[in-house]
Amino acid sequence: MRAKSKLKSPEIFIRPLIRNIKGYIPGEQPQESGVIKLNTNENPTPPSPKVLKAIKKATDSRLRLYPNPNAKKLRQALAKLHCCEPENVIIGNGSDELLALATRCFVEPRTASTKIQKNISKQTIQYFTPSYSLYPILANIHGARKKEFKLTNGYGLPEKKGLNKGNWDFQAALTYITTPNAPSGAGYKTSKLAKLCKIQDGIVILDEAYADFAEETALELTFRFPNVIISRTFSKAYSLCSQRIGYFIAHPKIITALDKIRDSYNTNELGQAAALATLDDLKYYKGHFKRIIKTRNQTSKILKSIGFDVIQSQTNFIFVKPKGLRAKELFTKLREKKILTRWFDTKSCRSWLRITIGTEREMDKFLLSTKAIVDNHKQR
Ligand code: PMP
Repeated sequence: MRAKSKLKSPEIFIRPLIRNIKGYIPGEQPQESGVIKLNTNENPTPPSPKVLKAIKKATDSRLRLYPNPNAKKLRQALAKLHCCEPENVIIGNGSDELLALATRCFVEPRTASTKIQKNISKQTIQYFTPSYSLYPILANIHGARKKEFKLTNGYGLPEKKGLNKGNWDFQAALTYITTPNAPSGAGYKTSKLAKLCKIQDGIVILDEAYADFAEETALELTFRFPNVIISRTFSKAYSLCSQRIGYFIAHPKIITALDKIRDSYNTNELGQAAALATLDDLKYYKGHFKRIIKTRNQTSKILKSIGFDVIQSQTNFIFVKPKGLRAKELFTKLREKKILTRWFDTKSCRSWLRITIGTEREMDKFLLSTKAIVDNHKQR
């Protein structure tokens, strides 16, 4: 018979750091049917028929085998696309995995004795607010110091003068910059990002999850500055969220270091096959980018015409401040009508709603519902 444990709870075995942190809360993935999903920046169009075929073709008895540990073919294809070498590329189980690996690779966990500024910087993860809400969570998990810096009004990047004044850490071990920004959708000029990267004495990750919808990409900066990493994903623009494929482009020494600490089989064979087939059919996707951008601009215009504040977007989502009712209320009322959007309960985002661009029909329904909710609210 098993002896009864005297322990009341196994919690005491959990490191205090982990016990006390909150995990990332992903956007809702509803099980019910008939929901219009405008909450997690997924692409409303399916992967190309060639991609679906490639996944099916790879689905056979080979599933018993481990996948290619280095995603060799995919790295070669990406290197060709971005005019670099496979040694400049690492593939992750979504870019989220790589963003997390970067904390372990570049940042010292926080220690008590940090009187010297330089030591503090080595333990610091820095990012603008608002930006991707995963960054603070990654810093917490790693036990790093967090340094937040507010974007300017309109979600722009501050100038050097502003950075100096606001106590920006030019030596921070790791700086994440979401470009174009999420959740605001604001885009940044490469020339401006270049100035920032040049004066930064630490790793800078330019998180380009939404770059395919933007006017510019800052890819060239990784070839100009050895401390700059470009982060990309197949999730958003390439309709492959489910397959979990993201990648970094960086100096080979950076890639080698990250490679040492990743899981040997971090990406699966079907994901690798899907991403490879995607790269063979880029024309299909480019057509969809144009459509999404057109729908995005039309939706923004209509929302502006009913008095909403809308940030000029360079992504596949828009960030809007409703007129006449609170963002949270609009979010809840839309939810009741089975339309999902994303509302963040933080100081800088609470008055705003992030809306992913869906199909034209979905956006028509969203606009009709939004107008009805706003009108109904006026009459109360
Ligand atoms: N960066 C940003 C800014 C994102 O919004 C997301 C998606 N939530 C990611 C990275 C991660 O994407 P994935 O892990 O699907 O590649």
